[in-house]
Amino acid sequence: MNTAAAGGAGVARTAVNHCPYCGEDQLRPSDAEYPGAWYCRSCLRLFSVTHHGVRRSDPTRTPQEPR
Ligand SMILES: [Zn+2]
Repeated sequence: MNTAAAGGAGVARTAVNHCPYCGEDQLRPSDAEYPGAWYCRSCLRLFSVTHHGVRRSDPTRTPQEPR
């Protein structure tokens, strides 16, 4: 696993393998209009993948949650 290419400020993006909307792999970088965005040739969507940081705790679990 290449964690150095996983993201972060100023890090070159890693290729996205599948469209998050339709699941197809017909993706192209869209640098001209939207830098860093991807264009899906299957569903015609433009989208970006954003890295928000690293978190070791599970943000979906609340301490007050009854069991
Ligand atoms: Zn798509």
